[in-house]
Amino acid sequence: MSITGYGNQWVCDLVPYEPGKPIEETARELGLEPDEIVKLASNENPLGPSPKAKLAMAEAIENAHIYPDGGGYRLRTALAEKHGVAFENIVLGNGSNEIIELLCHSFLKPGAGLIAAEHAFVVYKLMATLFGADYVEVPDPGFVHDLDAMLNAVTPETRLVFIANPNNPTGTLVGQEEIDRFMVGLPDHVIAVFDEAYHEFLEEAPDAIRYVKEGRNVCVMRTFSKAQGLSALRIGYGVTNSEVAGLLNRSRQPFNANSIAQAAALASIQDEEHISATVSNNAIGRRYFESSFAERGWEFVPSHANFVLVNVRDGDRVFSALLKKGVIVRAMRGYKLPEWVRISIGTPEQNKRCLEELDRVLSV
Ligand SMILES: *Cc1c(COP(=O)(O)O)cnc(C)c1O
Repeated sequence: MSITGYGNQWVCDLVPYEPGKPIEETARELGLEPDEIVKLASNENPLGPSPKAKLAMAEAIENAHIYPDGGGYRLRTALAEKHGVAFENIVLGNGSNEIIELLCHSFLKPGAGLIAAEHAFVVYKLMATLFGADYVEVPDPGFVHDLDAMLNAVTPETRLVFIANPNNPTGTLVGQEEIDRFMVGLPDHVIAVFDEAYHEFLEEAPDAIRYVKEGRNVCVMRTFSKAQGLSALRIGYGVTNSEVAGLLNRSRQPFNANSIAQAAALASIQDEEHISATVSNNAIGRRYFESSFAERGWEFVPSHANFVLVNVRDGDRVFSALLKKGVIVRAMRGYKLPEWVRISIGTPEQNKRCLEELDRVLSV
């Protein structure tokens, strides 16, 4: 038998995560310069990191020979204050993706269940598979999480319910009323995980952290990868009750959040100006795409985040055709949405270039 045959079954079964196509790789393949490529594929901040974060990173580099503060004292203190929770309620992650993994590490095993929506962020399924647990997918009519149906899917074996709010790749949001009703019904053997990676882009954000404050089994995840523009550094966090936090901290590596990322994250939460510039650029770009799609009669899902899902009839074809023009978007076959592509909001120039190429591609 080959060595793969001795691998853990659930690892062998795993279909690897497909990230957005990198700029350098695309430039190499097309014989172009990286700055000729427009990447609207990974929901990154087109304005880049905050200038304050860049300064903090430069300073932190001086101490790159020293291990990070594994307890994340300064960043966790600042986040605790920002959210009105205690220091012990904050768990740092190597991206919020790591918080997903730590939750699964702590609570899943064969026989245990994770519930998510049909078109939810794909990493939940990967992680459930990795831990040999049952992945339970609940239909999301109109691409909106159906929290009543998700609650109905809870069994004694359920450990985690993931609610991506707003969801990626659909950009849809569930409101406070639905969340409150869900929390009334949720039994104590289940942790509700609110993945709020796009929280900063919301005009009226529902509050899930209130349930952490009430001591409920809730974990709210946030990241510095999206609005804060620190995707490369891999830093995110969970806000959760002290019991869950204790288990996540036991599951993690001692230095999972590096010191350059911690310094940059701390500086960027203090840079409100950069966040508001980011949010207004996003609102302008999102309106531009959505109104252009509407004018052309293209079906799209109205978005609460920094990307839009649009029906182009053949997502793979459009992805490849745009790629040849140096515009990277995300095909959605992996989400069982083969007709759709997801386009991240860029700068006005990037958005315009993307739409022009899209017009050309769809006119043939
Ligand atoms: C991007 C994203 C994340 C996390 O990204 P990290 O870079 O690992 O922090 C988590 N959830 C959703 C829904 C996302 O879209």
